[in-house]
Amino acid sequence: MLTILCAACKTKLWKYEKRGHGHVVRCHKERISKWYKAELLGHKVYCRCGKPIGVDKDSYYRMISGAFTHTGTKKNKK
Ligand SMILES: [Zn+2]
Repeated sequence: MLTILCAACKTKLWKYEKRGHGHVVRCHKERISKWYKAELLGHKVYCRCGKPIGVDKDSYYRMISGAFTHTGTKKNKK
């Protein structure tokens, strides 16, 4: 499970079950297990500090590169 953090202020945004390898480019909504401080305004997700983090694309959020970091482990890592 990954915890997605705002790159600017390090606030926890949500928990995400990442599958497969590679970078976090999208966050599928069905795999977001816990929602912290992120706010949805229009079609964008913002941190409470006002930074845009991702864009709502219906079934997933397309993440804005450089706007977030993450901690935790990816699944199916052996
Ligand atoms: Zn922030």
